[in-house]
Amino acid sequence: MFCFQCQQTAMGTGCTISGVCGKKPETAQEQDILTCEMISLAKNLQHKDDVDISIIDLIVDGLFTTITNVSFDSDSIAALSGRIRVKLEELGGEHVITPDELFHGDEDIRSLRSTLLFGLRGMAAYAHHARVLGRRNEKVDSWFIKGMAALVDEHSVDEWLGLLMEFGGINIECMALLDEANTTAYGDPAPVQVPLDIEAGPFIVVTGHDLHDLKMLLEQTEGKGVNVYTHGEMLPAHGYPELKRYPQLKGNFGTAWQNQRKEFEDIPAPVLFTTNCLMPPIGSYKDRVYTTSVVKFPEMTHIDADEKGYKDFSALIEHAIKLGGYKERRELTGLNGGTVVTTGFGRQTALDNAPTIIDAVKSGAISHFFLVGGCDGAKPERSYYTEFVKQTPEDSVILTLACGKYRFNDLDLGTIGPFPRILDMGQCNDAFGAVQVAVALAGAFECGVNDLPLTLVLSWYEQKAVCVLLSLLSLGIKDIYVGPSIPAFFSETVLNVIIEKFDVHIISTPEEDLKNILD
Ligand code: SF4
Repeated sequence: MFCFQCQQTAMGTGCTISGVCGKKPETAQEQDILTCEMISLAKNLQHKDDVDISIIDLIVDGLFTTITNVSFDSDSIAALSGRIRVKLEELGGEHVITPDELFHGDEDIRSLRSTLLFGLRGMAAYAHHARVLGRRNEKVDSWFIKGMAALVDEHSVDEWLGLLMEFGGINIECMALLDEANTTAYGDPAPVQVPLDIEAGPFIVVTGHDLHDLKMLLEQTEGKGVNVYTHGEMLPAHGYPELKRYPQLKGNFGTAWQNQRKEFEDIPAPVLFTTNCLMPPIGSYKDRVYTTSVVKFPEMTHIDADEKGYKDFSALIEHAIKLGGYKERRELTGLNGGTVVTTGFGRQTALDNAPTIIDAVKSGAISHFFLVGGCDGAKPERSYYTEFVKQTPEDSVILTLACGKYRFNDLDLGTIGPFPRILDMGQCNDAFGAVQVAVALAGAFECGVNDLPLTLVLSWYEQKAVCVLLSLLSLGIKDIYVGPSIPAFFSETVLNVIIEKFDVHIISTPEEDLKNILD
């Protein structure tokens, strides 16, 4: 096997014996076969105008399936490959790439091709979430074909960079689509304090990103005496009016994905995984894990949607009732000892408060904005992000999104005027909202986004971070700090081009980076 798509790849170069994530070589092989089937199908459709949306959906699901920590189920990946192969045969198409060729060849071309492929995998997750809420966008759909086909076309390095920037722009459209889908379905998020303790009685923990799954679960748990707790990237759900109106949506349990084995080990409750990040479950809680959508693990209970998209969570709910939950309320804290976290500072809240924010900047009450966002992960050097946030000046505001925030979101850093200093803007896809806010601030101050007192400090782990980074670069945003390590799929040339063209910085120490930013 060879896989180097995530930040925890073995030795920082590539997993070759088995995945650090727990992915087995045969699963990696099936993912490569699936990827090649999708590329071949896209190549054969490249010049067709009216591609059936069922084919787009297959490619979106195939790409989403190959994201880190989504599917460990070789059989279902092979079945998906089979469905794509049938489409290819129906078209009379030919295979244009083999798994042996996928991650080989000229180092720089391999790097650029992998960057686009991993970005497409990330965007597929966002497109999938929008699709289940009935939203799709022709440009985004057709770019899945264009992008996958382009992976086997010949391009110069400059042409590759152009493609990556074009893709970054398309991913903004995809994130905008998901933003529209979420806010239309559930309303604009509003600030809310979310408790971290667990009440007595049966409960279910829901993790992943899919708000539609959570909504269906909330509908089905109504009046059943079963509470629901968010975990990981599901935390921002509490800010959405149409989700928080369910009284059984009680609070947030646990922190980010890499702590799940410790956190799920002995809770008297089942856990529903709606998307990544699923770690191979250990024996103590194996029988309490339920997966849905493209998330799969052999022998785990999987809940599929019926032809109308409905998911029957009754087995999960019965399981929660049988386990019974805790006898008494359990007081829990975040990683820094805090007992509540806040979320819901979405795009609209920030824009509604723009006059107050602008006044605070003009008066000097706010000296700087830091967007400290992205994925969390297991590597110890990720403590950088906690230390960075702790060391930011008292008159600065920390905007955050995605699961990296669990390292600091329970810290009490005080307030500036009516706002807490840490403002949680949502999930990773809410990078779209953060961009909207930055653009609005730049408009108010009659300057460019790069001239604002704003610095982006990103942490990456999997492929959604790749598409978000490409989107930010496509907007011309410069001086982004990225860590905790350089992606293994960036060749030296590609890394140097990115650093030179976009002034991207690889994180060093919080002290040094803060000094550079603020001097
Ligand atoms: Fe290794 Fe990451 Fe690939 Fe898993 S997803 S096999 S950890 S590079």
